[in-house]
Amino acid sequence: MIVTIDGPAGAGKSTVAKMLAGRLGFEFLDTGAMYRTVALELLRRGGMGQAASLGHWIEDLEMVFEPGKAWLRGEEVTREIRSPEVTALVSTVAEHGLVRGRLVVIQKGYGQGRSLVTEGRDQGTAVFPFAFCKFFLIADVNERAMRRFRELEKQGGTVNLNELAQQIAERDRRDATREIGPMIAAKDAIVIDSTGLSIVQVVDTLEKQVNLRGTPTS
Ligand code: C5P
Repeated sequence: MIVTIDGPAGAGKSTVAKMLAGRLGFEFLDTGAMYRTVALELLRRGGMGQAASLGHWIEDLEMVFEPGKAWLRGEEVTREIRSPEVTALVSTVAEHGLVRGRLVVIQKGYGQGRSLVTEGRDQGTAVFPFAFCKFFLIADVNERAMRRFRELEKQGGTVNLNELAQQIAERDRRDATREIGPMIAAKDAIVIDSTGLSIVQVVDTLEKQVNLRGTPTS
């Protein structure tokens, strides 16, 4: 049984998906981490200027993912994939058809025979169109920027709130307008606006909706 949570950057999808998975006794999949891992590899190969080389190495790139952890060619990169450099590059990498092709296959494989809460941009549309329950989680861009700002502050970073809001809006624009696997709510997704809500309130709402659907027949 698959539950999908899609939506824009910083809407709290990861935290909510993890908590919902815990409550339901499901596994949790963070598909953004996969795109970030490919972006890190491109960064190490020289960044955007080397984007044309993606087609040569993406199929054989060794990546391993576990809930909350990522490895690139045997090295744990869980923290590194959250760096501002990777965040700045990731939406461009995610536009690449070969990258999406490879990662969608991995994601579908992960969903085989598992009960899963999976979060990303295209989980309810391109990857799991027959998911049992689909959500599209949104929040006001200023609130999303403020949440990120506080997170980064806690980690000791110095960032400008306005710049952060602009970067988030730009990433959303790229994610929503790409040709393959754009960020869009599935027709049968429940749209949840988390502006002004606590994480627990959001998870309560999602859990209630999943339970309302009863038990899947297939
Ligand atoms: O969720 P997160 O912010 O970590 O995602 C990073 C980026 O990865 C997104 O901005 C998007 O470009 C890409 N992504 C995607 N499809 C997904 C998940 C993430 O294109 N299913």
